[in-house]
Amino acid sequence: MSESEYLPSKLSLPTYVPLQRTLVKEYESLFQLRTTQNLLQQQKKQITEHCDNYINFVLDNDKLDFDENILTNCLNTFENLVESNNEIEKLKSIQDHPDIKKFASREENDCKLETLDSFHNITNDQFPDIIKQKHTDALVQADFDFHKFLKNVLFVIKKPEDQLIEEEEDDGLAISGGKVSLKDPLTLDYYREPYKSLKCNHIFEKSSILANLRPNQIKQCPIEACDSSLSINDLVLDKLMVIRIRSFKRMERKDDADIEAVV
Ligand SMILES: [Zn+2]
Repeated sequence: MSESEYLPSKLSLPTYVPLQRTLVKEYESLFQLRTTQNLLQQQKKQITEHCDNYINFVLDNDKLDFDENILTNCLNTFENLVESNNEIEKLKSIQDHPDIKKFASREENDCKLETLDSFHNITNDQFPDIIKQKHTDALVQADFDFHKFLKNVLFVIKKPEDQLIEEEEDDGLAISGGKVSLKDPLTLDYYREPYKSLKCNHIFEKSSILANLRPNQIKQCPIEACDSSLSINDLVLDKLMVIRIRSFKRMERKDDADIEAVV
């Protein structure tokens, strides 16, 4: 049988069409994952900064209130970006799978009538399994922190005195009658600049904790039954508490205005 008379047993194209080796590099540069991922990272950074700026702007302007829609949009955009990024991570891990790598780097003939049968004989049943495998969607710490903070902000602007749902029993927040205390435990005045201890999560008004703690000094936490030792470096501004206070005062003013309107 001469070559011209040869007919493969199946005349259909194989279910996968191999990409010519010389085109692989061009294909990869066209669909370079890194480009998409860089873009996603940039957008994630932008939305984080945008949201931070918005929160700071409202906090710096006493007459402004938080707009729930703006914060919700930020949260949704951020979640979408994280999800897209996870899809790319999954694609990367599929490409990096040893079986897929081995398969992609095999030597093969050009796809011609004479070689068509050999392409039909290539099977790799594991691929669907590899693609279906669950990819871990773990957030990096910074993303996790931002996402949690934003969700918490959305919660406390509506319920400034309520405990966050995921808060554990041993969280440093003082609870009284099921409500979160918005008052400094040392002066019993409402917080203006609440500072949180990173060691034990206890919160104090800046001026009252600084009256207790001199620079370079390490002292036991002023909360009775707390045996953490604190230095000034362990204290950070508790922005969520600032937002709680802000939202609480706004609601209080609104209640007063409603009462006046009724009278
Ligand atoms: Zn403490």
